[in-house]
This record gives sequence, structure tokens and C-alpha cells, in this order.
Amino acid sequence: MSVNESLMQNSYHPARSSHIELQDNVDAQQAALLEKICPAGLFQRDADGRLVFHHQGCLECGCCRLIVGDAALSAWRYPPSGSGIVLRFG
Ligand code: SF4
Repeated sequence: MSVNESLMQNSYHPARSSHIELQDNVDAQQAALLEKICPAGLFQRDADGRLVFHHQGCLECGCCRLIVGDAALSAWRYPPSGSGIVLRFG
């Protein structure tokens, strides 16, 4: 099973607001790390080249927090109860 097929087994209940927030000015090195390490590819560039984060589909793995921490993220918390990912391994 491919990674994408495996991810499609999961169920998501996105919260209205994001549980992860970017600092206002993320430097280029930190931005490149975030784009590279998020297994769900949720850190992307907008049309103006700015780094943006899409919270829907977050695996809650914590990689972004471990790799860049406060240097690029102003907030990292789990989604509110009843929202977020439901992992399925079948
Ligand atoms: S917690 Fe994991 S899946 Fe969610 S944004 Fe961070 S690296 Fe990506």
C-alpha cells in the first residue's frame, strides 16, 4: 500500500480554526524545512511565495514542532476534542 493509499484510510474531522499557527515572518531556511518535513504536505507557498499552513489533514505527528518549534510556529496544540484525525490501520 502506498503512503497516499494509507493516508486515505484515515478519517478527518477538521476544526474551524487552525491548531497550528505560523510566526509572522518565517525565514527561508525554516520555511524550506517545514515544506520538506510535513508528511501531509500542509506547509505550502501561496501565489506570492509566502508560506501558508492548511490545518485540514494534519496527522498530529508533531514533526513540525520538533524540527522548527518556536522559531517558526507561534502555536502548536492538538485540535479541540471531537476534531482532528482518526487513525485507521486497516
Ligand atoms: S503535526 Fe505533522 S502533519 Fe501536522 S502540520 Fe505538523 S508535520 Fe504536518
